Amino acid sequence: MSAISTSSSAGDAARTPERPKRRSFLRLLLRNRLAGLGLVVLAAIVAIAILAPILPLADPNATAPANRLLPPLSEGHLLGTDELGRDLLSRLVWGTRLSLFMGVAATLVAALLGSTIGLVAGYFGGRLDNALMRSIDMLMAFPYILLALAIVAVLGPGLLNALYAVAIVNIPFFARNIRGVTVGLSHKDFVEAARLSGMGHGRILVSEVLPNVMPVIVITMSTTVGWMILETAGLSFLGLGSQPPQADLGSILGEGRKVMLTAPHVTTIAGITIFLLVMSINLVGDGVRDALDPRLSAGALARPAPVTRIARAKNADDAAPPEGSPALAVRRLSTRFEVGERIYRAVNDVSFTIRRGECLGLVGESGSGKSVTALSLLGLVPSPPGVIRAGRVWREGEDVLSLSREKLRALRGGRVSYIFQDPLTTLHPLFTVGDQLVEAIRAHRPASHAEAWTQAVALLDRVRIPAAADRAEALPHELSGGMRQRVAIAMALANEPDLIIADEPTTALDVTVQAQILALLDELRRESGLALLFITHDFGVVSQLCDRVAVMYAGKIVEEGPTQAVLEAPAHPYTRLLIACVPILGSGKRALDAIPGLPPAVDRLPDGCAFAPRCPRATAACKEGEIPPVSVADRRSARCLYAGEVMRAATEGSAA
Ligand code: ADP
Ligand code: MG
Repeated sequence: MSAISTSSSAGDAARTPERPKRRSFLRLLLRNRLAGLGLVVLAAIVAIAILAPILPLADPNATAPANRLLPPLSEGHLLGTDELGRDLLSRLVWGTRLSLFMGVAATLVAALLGSTIGLVAGYFGGRLDNALMRSIDMLMAFPYILLALAIVAVLGPGLLNALYAVAIVNIPFFARNIRGVTVGLSHKDFVEAARLSGMGHGRILVSEVLPNVMPVIVITMSTTVGWMILETAGLSFLGLGSQPPQADLGSILGEGRKVMLTAPHVTTIAGITIFLLVMSINLVGDGVRDALDPRLSAGALARPAPVTRIARAKNADDAAPPEGSPALAVRRLSTRFEVGERIYRAVNDVSFTIRRGECLGLVGESGSGKSVTALSLLGLVPSPPGVIRAGRVWREGEDVLSLSREKLRALRGGRVSYIFQDPLTTLHPLFTVGDQLVEAIRAHRPASHAEAWTQAVALLDRVRIPAAADRAEALPHELSGGMRQRVAIAMALANEPDLIIADEPTTALDVTVQAQILALLDELRRESGLALLFITHDFGVVSQLCDRVAVMYAGKIVEEGPTQAVLEAPAHPYTRLLIACVPILGSGKRALDAIPGLPPAVDRLPDGCAFAPRCPRATAACKEGEIPPVSVADRRSARCLYAGEVMRAATEGSAA
């Protein structure tokens, strides 16, 4: 009864997960102190400007020659009066209101026209793009303020004409920015997909491109509105904008200029107001720009540290260094991602050893924690949100995670190197592969460019690239996928490592190229006696290459042992099912199996064995408490209560 109730409540919890709130825009904005300050000042100014009609202010246009040029703090006139005896405080509040309105209106007009031009030019390209952009260039050829003056001169002075002038002058900003982003977007796959699905250009622009361009528009608006307020104030200052008796901040400043020596307070107060307004808008604009970066709002790019944060529990039992200083020994490693309230146990109590010259295969479904394990070894998991909560990594008897940053950096790409899945993303697109190898070599040892180049060519030769000297001059996109991966391997070999960590290096390649790369890695390993941690989701690959294999599931190693022995008689039901997934060509007898169900989410791991919900053998005992690894044969272990039976069943099955 109780079991039923707990499982149903667990189900409820799974259905209504308490998502950690994405950091709200405001919180991100306020993380920037200056933006916070700007926001407070701006909010105060805007509130006063909006409330101007209901504030107990004097009529801003009521003249009183008897009271002209009263200093600030005079009775009834807090900020004094101007030349015609009008209340300065009231004029300032109304002037600010007008200036704000003008700035915002000009920004909206410029944004609307400029963004439309940019979107259309960037999306359609070709002649239309050329025609539109050259007209924009013509606008940009004149200094802004001169152009604005010329426009007002043609249209005649007046508030509305000043607004047009400022808006027109600012159109190029928007058009250029938005066009740039749109050009990049209009060849993206999702836009192509929309075209293939038969959408018209108009709809693609509005529903596919515009939402992606919107942040740029908002950012450009927030960073130009202050500038536009200044420009309209400038025109009014020159008497070309607002006409008396109406006054914006610029014209108050202009009027004050005439009495600057006798009554400096008029200009000073108007100047300070303009300064506060524009400054606060610019600070907020900068903050908005930072906060709108989607990578920042996910918290992912919150300045990842150079080394993963290590925070071991105080009472964690410290494993002693392994005997015989193997190439790599990992002991009870646990890496988590701590995102708000949620804890993702990506790597959970993982231990394994790789001896010198040995190849260990790390196998598991996608999401089982293989890559996080590989990255944890040299503290490469980004933190935040990654944290190493327990465990040690020993390399040749050296405690890697306790090394200083400099030593750790020297180790990366030096004695330990990585090969990743897709070489097209790890190679720099603009440098020749030779130059990139030279860079990898010179990052770790002093060598002249010429020496390093000779070594680079030798490395390319070593990974069996034909005509290596010529190929060194090639850019990554000029090579095939297999060639690129060879280059990546050459790069990993550049500093004669003792250990190579290869994270699915053949997953992006076709089978024939994969076979070549595997043969190459195997040859190199035997030639130079280096240790290899080979990560893959494919048992077939492991059987070709690895001496030992570790099977990973939901962050834990569920079985480990010599490849041959594990393949012949797996001790964990998961291993068994994983092996059954490998197709055998030409043997029509076995149907290709898929493992039913899905791996659990690592932030909601079930009690006991994480595989139990999918396991054909699971019993109630499997779902209670931690299942420790048990030794099932010489140098073999498995985390299964029924390991012995599973093994026996496998050998009997194959004998039958
Ligand atoms: P794989 O075995 O396919 O290489 P990974 O090691 O990449 O799997 O991922 C292991 C688990 O860690 C996955 O369940 C993934 O969801 C989780 N994970 C990886 N990176 C993050 C992150 N930045 N934040 C939260 N969870 C993450
Ligand atoms: Mg991976």
